[in-house]
Amino acid sequence: MASMMQPQIILLKEGTDTSQGKAQLVSNINACTAVGDVVRTTLGPRGMDKLIHDDKGSVTISNDGATIMKLLDIVHPAAKILVDIAKSQDSEVGDGTTTVVLLAAEFLKEAKPFIEDGVHSQNLIRSYRTASTLAIEKVKALAVSIEGKSVEEKRGLLAKCAATTLSSKLISGEKEFFATMVVNAVMAIGDDDRLNLIGIKKVPGGNMRDSFLVDGVAFKKTFSYAGFEQQPKKFLNPKILLLNIELELKSEKENAEIRLSDPSQYQSIVDAEWNIIYDKLDKCVDSGAKVVLSRLAIGDLATQYFADRDIFCAGRVAEEDLNRVAAAAGGTIQTSVNNIIDEVLGTCEIFEEKQVGGERFNIFSGCPSGRTATIVLRGGADQFIEEAERSLHDAIMIVRRAVKNSTVVPGGGAIDMEISKYLRQHSRTIAGKSQLFINSYAKALEVIPRQLCDNAGFDATDVLNKLRQKHAMQSGEGANYGVDINTGGIADSFANFVWEPAVVKINAINAATEAACLILSVDETVKNPKSESAQGDAAGAMGRGRGGGRGRGMRRR
Ligand code: ADP
Ligand code: MG
Repeated sequence: MASMMQPQIILLKEGTDTSQGKAQLVSNINACTAVGDVVRTTLGPRGMDKLIHDDKGSVTISNDGATIMKLLDIVHPAAKILVDIAKSQDSEVGDGTTTVVLLAAEFLKEAKPFIEDGVHSQNLIRSYRTASTLAIEKVKALAVSIEGKSVEEKRGLLAKCAATTLSSKLISGEKEFFATMVVNAVMAIGDDDRLNLIGIKKVPGGNMRDSFLVDGVAFKKTFSYAGFEQQPKKFLNPKILLLNIELELKSEKENAEIRLSDPSQYQSIVDAEWNIIYDKLDKCVDSGAKVVLSRLAIGDLATQYFADRDIFCAGRVAEEDLNRVAAAAGGTIQTSVNNIIDEVLGTCEIFEEKQVGGERFNIFSGCPSGRTATIVLRGGADQFIEEAERSLHDAIMIVRRAVKNSTVVPGGGAIDMEISKYLRQHSRTIAGKSQLFINSYAKALEVIPRQLCDNAGFDATDVLNKLRQKHAMQSGEGANYGVDINTGGIADSFANFVWEPAVVKINAINAATEAACLILSVDETVKNPKSESAQGDAAGAMGRGRGGGRGRGMRRR
């Protein structure tokens, strides 16, 4: 009775789930390691793809860390941090997304035994931060600038980078041919970083060597109506009108009802329809445009009308293609034909419709804004061209990165091994426990070359031993050695043009360390029952189940 009289102090709402301490830390680390294990096999040129099947039934096959992380739908609160760093790496530098997740997971994995042994996580965090600063300084010191070279020399170097990427692919036989093409395409779009400005069009049939580059836009001829044959198929310096409207006779079928009392009135209705379309067509013609493109249909009436006036038209142009024409030719897509001023019209040096293999193509070349390029790919089977497209995409990314960030470091795990060695050496100069922690950090960096080997089916222990030996050489001549993905041995990554922009590595190390430290600094998770139910009824019934079933007991483990 007496005890009941005592005032009770209630801090947290009933049902609040808290778990804390070492156990919580270890459980967070385990969750992150599990996430790292998912993406680990996708790293590198021999990485595998993941097929992700989501609850809506759509299937994505991807090799890209950020894409996979996004689609994984991770629910563990700590592991979610890894999704965020992958996303940030993707938006900051566009590559190295698998690397960043893998590094973060490995830093945590190395920290786990220390945590279990009762090391305070703040000590670990401090050492990790020091190690990361040292590592980044080292990357900056090792980075080599390709700036200051002449344009021709730069093209040569870039072509070598592209050729390296292509060497492991299906189209390796023609790698020089395609490498030059890729470099030209990237140079054509300048420093605009919208990837979709480089289009790749696939036309099955013919020979790989029949592939060509258009310094502008090319797309497959769209569906056309009678009258099309009479339209001119080539113009020099035409004005180009881009539309997002339908140029078709509309017969309102379902949603219009007109009551007529006199059959003669019917003609006036028909006339009105015709007047509307003729009015639109006249305005297009008056604008002075010689090429009219629309995202929506251009009907037979309009086609014939344009043909009679020596104008070329194409309807149902894919949005992507229309946007690229707009970017290249300098026009603006119109949603109305009223007040078409000269400024909204684009132009290009040559427009023509040409036969490419079994297809007809509309090709706009010599565009004034020069901000686009299109690669028309030829080749035997569909699957072959598909793979060629993916390969070219990689090569384009490599060249773009090399152009944009002109300092590079050797890839294939070379830079990671070199930093690892540097940190190990440095740690020996430190007294105290910090030495162990920095050593672990250094060991974690080796995950990159190890995983590259594992994914290629090489003996990782063997290769890593060789690499350690090379990097330990006093003369420093082994500093650029990394995994040789073609032979299963080691090779000078720098000489082989396996280059990575320094910014990719710097950002990855920075982000991965921050994420690891963030997770290590969390020792308690408090789950508020109310906020959980407010989190959305999407979890609906599951939420209730979770309260009882999984609640506190499980989480504490
Ligand atoms: P991420 O999403 O991190 O960019 P990738 O699957 O693109 O992952 O793999 C990048 C890694 O592959 C880098 O460490 C890079 O150095 C390495 N790599 C790329 N090409 C080669 C190559 N030809 N030989 C050896 N390693 C390579
Ligand atoms: Mg990559």
